[in-house]
Amino acid sequence: MAKTNADKFEFKAETRQLLDILAHSLYSSREIFLRELISNASDALDKLRFESNRNTDYADKDLPLEIRIGFDEKKSILTISDTGIGMSHEEVISNIGTIAHSSSAEFIKQLKENKEEANNIIGKFGVGFYSIFMVAEKVALKSRSYRKEEKPVIWESEGTDEYKLSYLDENLKRGTSIEIKLKEDAKEFASKWKIESVIKQHSNFISFPIYLEKEKVNTTPALWREPKSKITPTEYEDFYKFLSHDSEPPAETLHISVDAPIQYNALLFIPKKNEDFFGFYRDQYGLDLYVRRVLIQHKSKDLIPEYLGFVKGVVDSEDLPLNVSRETLQENAVFSKISSNIITQVLNFLIKKATDEPEKFLEIWKEHGRQFKLGYSDFVNKDKFTQLLRFNSSSSSDQTGFVSIDEYINRVKKDQKEIYFAFGTTRDALISSPQFEIFQRKGIEVLFLLDPIDEFVLTSLGDYKDFKFIQVDQIDLGKIEKFEDVKKDETKAPELSKDDLKHLDSLAQKIKSILGDNVTEVRISKRLDSSPACLVNPENSLSSSMQKFLKLTQKDYAQPKKIFEINPKHHLIINLLEIFKKDSHDTFIERSAWQLFELSLLLEGSLLDPHKLFKRANDMVTEASDLYLKAKANQQ
Ligand code: ADP
Repeated sequence: MAKTNADKFEFKAETRQLLDILAHSLYSSREIFLRELISNASDALDKLRFESNRNTDYADKDLPLEIRIGFDEKKSILTISDTGIGMSHEEVISNIGTIAHSSSAEFIKQLKENKEEANNIIGKFGVGFYSIFMVAEKVALKSRSYRKEEKPVIWESEGTDEYKLSYLDENLKRGTSIEIKLKEDAKEFASKWKIESVIKQHSNFISFPIYLEKEKVNTTPALWREPKSKITPTEYEDFYKFLSHDSEPPAETLHISVDAPIQYNALLFIPKKNEDFFGFYRDQYGLDLYVRRVLIQHKSKDLIPEYLGFVKGVVDSEDLPLNVSRETLQENAVFSKISSNIITQVLNFLIKKATDEPEKFLEIWKEHGRQFKLGYSDFVNKDKFTQLLRFNSSSSSDQTGFVSIDEYINRVKKDQKEIYFAFGTTRDALISSPQFEIFQRKGIEVLFLLDPIDEFVLTSLGDYKDFKFIQVDQIDLGKIEKFEDVKKDETKAPELSKDDLKHLDSLAQKIKSILGDNVTEVRISKRLDSSPACLVNPENSLSSSMQKFLKLTQKDYAQPKKIFEINPKHHLIINLLEIFKKDSHDTFIERSAWQLFELSLLLEGSLLDPHKLFKRANDMVTEASDLYLKAKANQQ
């Protein structure tokens, strides 16, 4: 073998780290290196076919598109060759010399930290070409680019800190050939049964022929184009596993064949688990786009929106031109139609599932619901999207319950035109919040939103089937008061005389003068039962949690002032009224007003400085303990 210009190159630090881990750990799933190499070979063949469809001129036009695997059991050598697009000198440096994965640093960290989970991590994401060093002592990769002017090259490495790269004075044909000298403990990969079983398990659906020595080992056709009646559940499952690298079968399988107005076949799957671990997900979603069985785009994100990104699968159409370029796909009218048809099909499938098999739908919701909620901006499919949402609600028996908006609507009171929701961290907190008291008294259902994104979802949607979504701290009380109480008033508060009511108004004025500009108004509450006071937003203002969000994100955001309501049924307020009647300047009123106000802020999570509250509370409890002791002494 004649080489020229042998150059030594250093691997980048990140690559060295990865190599070190891969080479020195014994992973039980290391067979996946073969899957990675075959998948690279298949990609290279896809790329060549793509160029050929665009009538590009290229080297060795008569070479068949295929993958060949050879082995030498005695010498422990395994060779994988393809007639794909190949690589030039420069391409080898940029493609093989560095890790392509966008989150590789995070990936390495995870590999280091979770040794026992490493198999799973490697199995799911692969580590591409470098996985070869789980089994290789030495690797020699020869490649000849499809571009006629490029010379063949050879890349050699032992998986240490450096690699060698040089031009090859050999009449190499187009494509790439990788020769692996196997480590002693990986010799088994140079045997027919082992290679065959790995290919059957991981690479059976590769669309190019794979020859093991002389024999073709992959046999399965493009499954999505077969008639549904001919496909067995196992075939679907195997295809899913091949496609997703998931070890579990899918939760759902959707095989779609559409002929009009556009023709396409799609084979889609909903995985049992959402694989959004360590944020890999964002660039992991997408459907594979084929045109007449030729792969045009891997993981096309234009075919499916991010909120349905948990759906995996392939789409194949007769109606797209083979030479369509990836860049112009988005502007292609047929492509857009296919994409919107797929979205409709998936949403309809989910709606049917929710109706026919609600339990199964809930499983999907629990796993993928968080991602699905991102669809609040898909206005075209707003109704279908909203129909599929699930939330906990005051009518659920505990925090594990889910209701749909349609179920809520079926239960609304006569003339109720609004859907009420509250946002909080736990169901218990929402049930005991002062704002919920009136809903409980009136028996009006409230959706309990426990995920921060939920509020954006409902606020952005605005309405559904003529019902407006309204947050409980923004209600127009008049619309709720008109409904009859379903719960008896158990506060046993005395009926206030006309005179007392007048004094109560003055007390409210007094409290307003104490709290000053901290509140817009102090008023007598009609919504409270068991809490002495609460803060509410003036109508048409932003919700409390939206305000909190703005405060976090915008430095200068001034939170709007709220209305402070006091509850005339509450013992404390009645006592304050008595004190006020005796001496309207009594300082106890002032201390209580601040205490009630700051406690309300605390409950909403918007108390900025708790020091005054802390001191006042301690002082008042101390005084109360004195009074308590005195009262006890008097009893004896
Ligand atoms: P990935 O396949 O995820 O991009 P890899 O580490 O497996 O990452 O490969 C890196 C790059 O090397 C590929 O994107 C491709 O450009 C190039 N490559 C790998 N194997 C081949 C091959 N057999 N033929 C042509 N190019 C290849």
